[in-house]
Amino acid sequence: MLANFLSKFYRNGWLTGVVIVLIPFNTLFSAKGATTVEGFESGSKGSYAAADVTLGTGVWNLNDALIGNLAGDAKSGTQSTRIRNSGKATMKFDRTTGAGTITIKHGKYGSDASTTWQLWCSTNSGSSYTQIGSTVTTSSTTLQTAIFTPNISGTVRCEVRKTDGTTNRTNIDDINITDSGTSGGGGGSGSVHLTMGNPSAAATSNLNNYLLDKAQYAVGYNCALGRPNWVSWQLNSSWLGSTPRQDDFRADTTLPTGCYQVQSTDFSGSGFDRGHMTPSADRTKTVTDNSATFLMTNMIPQAPDNNQGIWANLENYARTLVSQGKELYIISGGYGIGGTGSNGTFNTIAGGKVTVPDRTWKIIVVLDTSGSGVSGVTTSTRVIAVNIPNDQGVRTADWRNYRVSVDSIESLTGYDFLSQVSTSTQSVVEAQVDNL
Ligand code: MN
Ligand code: MN
Repeated sequence: MLANFLSKFYRNGWLTGVVIVLIPFNTLFSAKGATTVEGFESGSKGSYAAADVTLGTGVWNLNDALIGNLAGDAKSGTQSTRIRNSGKATMKFDRTTGAGTITIKHGKYGSDASTTWQLWCSTNSGSSYTQIGSTVTTSSTTLQTAIFTPNISGTVRCEVRKTDGTTNRTNIDDINITDSGTSGGGGGSGSVHLTMGNPSAAATSNLNNYLLDKAQYAVGYNCALGRPNWVSWQLNSSWLGSTPRQDDFRADTTLPTGCYQVQSTDFSGSGFDRGHMTPSADRTKTVTDNSATFLMTNMIPQAPDNNQGIWANLENYARTLVSQGKELYIISGGYGIGGTGSNGTFNTIAGGKVTVPDRTWKIIVVLDTSGSGVSGVTTSTRVIAVNIPNDQGVRTADWRNYRVSVDSIESLTGYDFLSQVSTSTQSVVEAQVDNL
């Protein structure tokens, strides 16, 4: 029992929590002062009885909840909130800059059984609340990250509600709320690869939404996840030549201080491929271009059957469109937590430094002629979007069976794709599911 517990603890990578602790959140977000991050590190409350407590972000009410700092508390840093019964942790203050994305870390207390909880938010200073997303089950003593995309603008406050009602205790930590509008709608920054927009308004002020503006592609990088949120690139015949695959996988040393540089060997033995987002075969004009695709900031841990099978088939299909004279704008990334590679299911690899996505998604805008740019997108433009499990077993599956609407990927990720396209055209092309 103890050995099983320890092996599970170790396999899931207790470093996940620790590594995230080591990232100084107040440094991370100091340039974006409007992001709220409550780590429960300041303030103390030793009993479960309902009471207000002043924390780093403001006053919270903890009802059937306390601030825990024991060995059994799942936490990042030295404290987290511990909730029992049908307890709640409630903000007693409003944010006025909305809530774009909310991430919350959660873990089981000690050897307690699994619990469930929900996120609820209020736009009227707590008079009434609406549930955001779906019920979360906490079943691991290692902190996991739940992601919500309320996309609420203006006044907002939120609370976590434990919903199973049992005496089993749940720890909640590092509640991170970004402004509305920080998840989407950014301009193109001049990069040809952002012609269709910057899906998460990535910039160099936020380490978890960090813009890497390369000659060969653009990246919205996430230092906490150790992988890109998205990669975006143009593909037309001008990028294609006869340069062979360089295979020079390497760390991206252009990442800023405070961001872990994923190493070329970090995926070794994990059962996941170093899965290119911008494919090597999409950059064959020069050695420099091809080599750029082997930077680890262009990689996600991808199940081999996904990467080498269905995903590669879609990449090949895209290049056949280019051979027909098309110009493509492609955006891809991973979503969610936990994939199944050749060694089984993992939430993280590389000692917790790289989070394995649950799904891989891709959007391909197909323009009939090169050089037309964003004005070439009309309501009849073909847009191919797919959402594929990051699991073994999809090697021979047809990518056509995984086609979805762009709208569905927007609602999953909270990003706004094709934001440079008029909203009236977006509403048409993003709602359709490709069927050619
Ligand atoms: Mn690949
Ligand atoms: Mn859009």
